[in-house]
Amino acid sequence: MNIVICGSMAVAIDMVVVKGQLETRGHSCTLPRNTELYASGVMKDVGGSEGAQRKITGDLIRDYHQLIRNEETDAVLAMNSKFKNGVQCYVGGNTFLEMGFAHIEHKKLFLFNPWSKTQETIAQEIEAMQPIVLFGDYDEVDRWENVIIDQGETQLALKNGNYRCSNDGQTIFRDGGQRIPPCSCGKGKWEHNK
Ligand SMILES: [Zn+2]
Repeated sequence: MNIVICGSMAVAIDMVVVKGQLETRGHSCTLPRNTELYASGVMKDVGGSEGAQRKITGDLIRDYHQLIRNEETDAVLAMNSKFKNGVQCYVGGNTFLEMGFAHIEHKKLFLFNPWSKTQETIAQEIEAMQPIVLFGDYDEVDRWENVIIDQGETQLALKNGNYRCSNDGQTIFRDGGQRIPPCSCGKGKWEHNK
């Protein structure tokens, strides 16, 4: 898949690592501009108005939206691997914005870690965008490779546990709130297995 990776420069190193991992699996990844330079320390992350000025000068927000909406782009992976403001797996403003772009453009949306309910201003919107949480598991990316997400083929796991295909009996484990890709047989429905 062609995957656009999103995240703040505070997680530049993580993004470079994830890109490498996904590319060894045959995916093609795009990083935000200059991520490698931030990861190697050549460029320093800046906040406040200086950071805003960089975004204005490079027209970075529109630039990334164009990339996400490009028909060659299959998926967006949002990196939330940082502890910030007392929140584990913090989703930053820019990352949240780009998750929104992915949702609007009907792209597959992966989130590296679960999001935190304590990020009250955005937790509800993240839940509504139904990101596919990887829990750091790259196999999950491969499972979604041939799934078309806006044809109603996916199911939502309503609670934790094993789900069993009604046609061929394959099982898959899901946490409540996660989406389940269609079974490879293409015929069954996933049923919660008590
Ligand atoms: Zn099946």
